[in-house]
Amino acid sequence: MGREGRGEYRIGAVFSNREIIAGVVDSRHRVVSRASLALGAGCDYRETARLVADCAGLAARGLGIDPDRCASVGVGCPGIANRETGEVVYSGPMVWNHVPLGKELQKHFPAADTVAVAELAGCTALGEALAGAALRCAQVVLFQFGAGIGSGVVIDGRIFGGKYCAGARLGHCTIVSGGKTCTCGRKGCFEAYASLEALAEQAREAAARYKNTLLGRYDALTISPSEVMDCARKGDRAARRVISQYIDYVSDGIVNAVNAFRPEIVVLGGTEVKFWKELLDEINSRCCERYYGAALLPVPKVVLASLGVDAGLIGAAALGEAGN
Ligand SMILES: [Zn+2]
Repeated sequence: MGREGRGEYRIGAVFSNREIIAGVVDSRHRVVSRASLALGAGCDYRETARLVADCAGLAARGLGIDPDRCASVGVGCPGIANRETGEVVYSGPMVWNHVPLGKELQKHFPAADTVAVAELAGCTALGEALAGAALRCAQVVLFQFGAGIGSGVVIDGRIFGGKYCAGARLGHCTIVSGGKTCTCGRKGCFEAYASLEALAEQAREAAARYKNTLLGRYDALTISPSEVMDCARKGDRAARRVISQYIDYVSDGIVNAVNAFRPEIVVLGGTEVKFWKELLDEINSRCCERYYGAALLPVPKVVLASLGVDAGLIGAAALGEAGN
């Protein structure tokens, strides 16, 4: 295959410690083919790079093209990924320290003009800015809620990561001085109070304390965010108190990010989309009361992510575009 027509397609891939997803993305930022492969626990960076190439090959052939037809390859990795050097400085989920993932990937994609590695939530934020909920917004802050809180910041259409791409870690901004211990080892981080795991813990504590409530009838060991929401919807006071406090934590984290970056929009993503949809009005309302300069200027809207995993694929693929 000649080089004519290259630029029409790019490969974007994302991975966790469970699976790799690769997509072929067209010049209009649409995922036109995708594939996934399971990733075994403890997979090292060499094996991961090989599997990314296998997965990209599956996605390309699903479209009926050779992977070499794609102009560039971008990979979104959980952790601190230095885009300038291709080094993954640290990845908790992968248990990696200082691994040259970018260089390893280049061996598998010799025909690509660029092979880039960047942090996953940054790629996701860029994808939402290019084709999703933050379309045409130059400044975007995105939060990914799950067991932890991932965050991505886009400024003037580019992922912002600061020096070594180690910045924009909004889940690790302190919201309670000396508070609960976070996964990062520090105390009082946003993540320690506002991740879905933190909400489940808050619900477990309330269920154990208020046994004669709807919430108290659930198994305190296994209660989930959607079950707390179910109880709150039915008017259970213990559940409503948990949710109201949780919205406060979430709002504090959002307001801190907005006061730092003043994005045009804040995007909330991750799992449990239905749950977030129900909280959105209240989150917007409480944030509006707290933003700096809220009385003087229009404030950013907090919205739901719209692309799911495709946002990461689109953002990763766009790492190869000029200007990104
Ligand atoms: Zn932390």
